[in-house]
Amino acid sequence: MSSPYAIEDSENLEREPESLKVVCMESYENCSFCSSKLVFTHDLNLGLLQVIEVARCPGCGVKMNPKKFTLQ
Ligand SMILES: [Zn+2]
Repeated sequence: MSSPYAIEDSENLEREPESLKVVCMESYENCSFCSSKLVFTHDLNLGLLQVIEVARCPGCGVKMNPKKFTLQ
């Protein structure tokens, strides 16, 4: 049975599904020196509402350029 009332989607538009995309971005990279799989660590800075993602190589200990995300 279909409802005689039309369901309004206007409330659902307030959600932002794109905010989850950041998590899955480039999860796997290899070290350019020894080809080991990089380990990603995330430092939360709750005071500044920032997340700093650092890629570190377990093989040679090299740290790749950290990426900074701002929480909303
Ligand atoms: Zn390495």
